[in-house]
Amino acid sequence: MTDANAQARQSLLDAIAREVAATSDYLGKDQLSPAVIAALNRVPRHEFVPDDLRHLAYQNRPLSIGQGQTISQPYIVAIMTELAALTPQSHVLEIGTGCGYQAAVLAEIAETVVTVERIASLADDAKARLKRLGYGNITVIHGDGSRGWPAEAPYDAILVTAAAAKLPAALLEQLRPGGRMVIPLGRQDMTQSLVVMEKDAVTGAVRESCNLPVAFVPLLSGEE
Ligand code: SAH
Repeated sequence: MTDANAQARQSLLDAIAREVAATSDYLGKDQLSPAVIAALNRVPRHEFVPDDLRHLAYQNRPLSIGQGQTISQPYIVAIMTELAALTPQSHVLEIGTGCGYQAAVLAEIAETVVTVERIASLADDAKARLKRLGYGNITVIHGDGSRGWPAEAPYDAILVTAAAAKLPAALLEQLRPGGRMVIPLGRQDMTQSLVVMEKDAVTGAVRESCNLPVAFVPLLSGEE
């Protein structure tokens, strides 16, 4: 990490902190936990963006990564990670790997991360990048994540980084009782809501919260 990146990263963390404070009513807290801040600090976001956009890597905005897809806005990655309430023992499923940035942030905190991407070239690139950066606790899978990944279920947390018109039932089934799912729900042509689903440890009943307005690319079915 060069000094220039370290400085850019600190101002990015400041920008995220301001946006977290401004949206505290949705998040139920007005600041990120130290573990999430440390994770954001450790992941070199410039390694996840195309070369010609590297100078924008530490701005608080989503960027295009090709194939009509994006790397999520850092604030969104921060709050999705926060809302997942991870521990160092967490076994996490992410749907929508893209470039692998969110997966890397999750892997800084959790024990293991399984991430599923439907576009083969993105899955291959993310796998190579995460390996090169030394993330031995992430498994990248090429497949349709709307079916989840039953082979490694149940998960303590599930993050969906593409918007679903309705909640995929398979994902809720693969969430461990006591676990949390963070998912943007709503149609692509409308504002979507970032929803947190908590599955009760005893009764299995699901409680919804958050409902922050967001804009994500759509969760599509099938593979490419
Ligand atoms: N998590 C990424 C952002 C991903 S953008 C980050 O860290 O920046 C959403 C991704 O979801 C895209 O790459 C898209 O191809 C993928 N996607 C859409 N529908 C999917 C599905 N059914 N299964 C798996 N991936 C899907």
